[in-house]
Amino acid sequence: MTGRIYRGGCLCGRVRYEIKGAIEDIICCHCSECRKAQGSAYATNGNVKAEDFVVLTGESELTGYPSGSDQVKFFCRRCGSPIISKRRSVTDRVRVRLGSIDGDITQRPTAHIFVGSRANWDPLDAALPRFETHEPSRQQPPNRAAGRPGND
Ligand SMILES: [Zn+2]
Ligand SMILES: [Zn+2]
Repeated sequence: MTGRIYRGGCLCGRVRYEIKGAIEDIICCHCSECRKAQGSAYATNGNVKAEDFVVLTGESELTGYPSGSDQVKFFCRRCGSPIISKRRSVTDRVRVRLGSIDGDITQRPTAHIFVGSRANWDPLDAALPRFETHEPSRQQPPNRAAGRPGND
């Protein structure tokens, strides 16, 4: 716990949320699914304890897109902003799309993953470690088998 409270929301402002704890395991994923989901060079997502993530307004606007058998990506149905994803196999965490957070956070990304499938116009951040697929700590679970999209 950091003791800090972060707030965030979607582009149109209907969905608003609060994060009451730490943001952990921040990863930049360059896989093709994350690029499509974000409409950008890569997704930067971080884990938050499920009980620390509270939707303040607009919960009825949050729409789930089943991405693979285990994950649902939630976005605002009005403006399309990606907000979080949840895994059926991981009930105690949500994965927050960091671009939806207002203002500054104290934590930092720890790696770029799936750089092997990055867009050819993506310059990358030269300072961070790079992995062809998942970062080493995440290469074991069956739903993150090597060679499959990161699905972050
Ligand atoms: Zn919205
Ligand atoms: Zn990914």
